[in-house]
Amino acid sequence: MFVFQGDKVLVRQGALEHTGRPDKVSRCSLKLPEVWQDLPPWCEVEEDFQPGEGGEFIGLRQVWHRFGDEAFLRAGGAWQYANWWRNVRLCSFCGEPLRPSETDHGRRCPRCGRAFYAPLSPAVIVAIEREVGGERKLLLAHNTAMPEGRLSVLAGFVEPGETLEQAVVREVREEVAIEVRDIRYFKSQPWPFPCSLMLGFTARWKAGELRPDGVEIGEAGWFAPGDIHPANIPDGASIARRLIDHFTASARNPGT
Ligand SMILES: [Zn+2]
Repeated sequence: MFVFQGDKVLVRQGALEHTGRPDKVSRCSLKLPEVWQDLPPWCEVEEDFQPGEGGEFIGLRQVWHRFGDEAFLRAGGAWQYANWWRNVRLCSFCGEPLRPSETDHGRRCPRCGRAFYAPLSPAVIVAIEREVGGERKLLLAHNTAMPEGRLSVLAGFVEPGETLEQAVVREVREEVAIEVRDIRYFKSQPWPFPCSLMLGFTARWKAGELRPDGVEIGEAGWFAPGDIHPANIPDGASIARRLIDHFTASARNPGT
């Protein structure tokens, strides 16, 4: 099982999933009804739990670096459940402690009967390209929340009542004041920081000149593949990097 302590997961003797129940466990999915045993098992340990010889706690992003995609998805999913369990204990309508459902991966209030599920926040992320002087270029922007010099594609949370395509149009308009066309689905990625589901798209420039909003987006520009430096863009754990790499590869080898 995965052993979590806050936002980190235990790695011991090169392993990310462990057999046996450790000491100082505050919550453990193995105690839950049978339907929950379909999910990767997890437990959460107290703050004073010691990882022991050859053990350490690492962040989920480090999981991707050390163990790859599959482990990142599995550990991230387990952590999202563990985090939900830690943060949400009571029914938000009547205050009664929630109980795990016997039939699905939700929790129910024994008093008023309402059901609750682990939160997921859908967010769109989009790689926009434009032909400038016969050359294909990608829109990269500096989000003010990112480290200095870091560039990435645009992203934002989907709002109630809008389609994913509408969310793409609105976010791009709000952040850099341009219009886009040919919005196409690319790939998705669960992003457990803490509960996003990233929905990747590609799009093409339609109209307008870049005008960063100055609040969320500090700077934005069009970059040819040769002007994009790996050190300045997100690492391969993120779908942002996959979108950028997809653009770079297709711009260099049209038709692929
Ligand atoms: Zn209730």
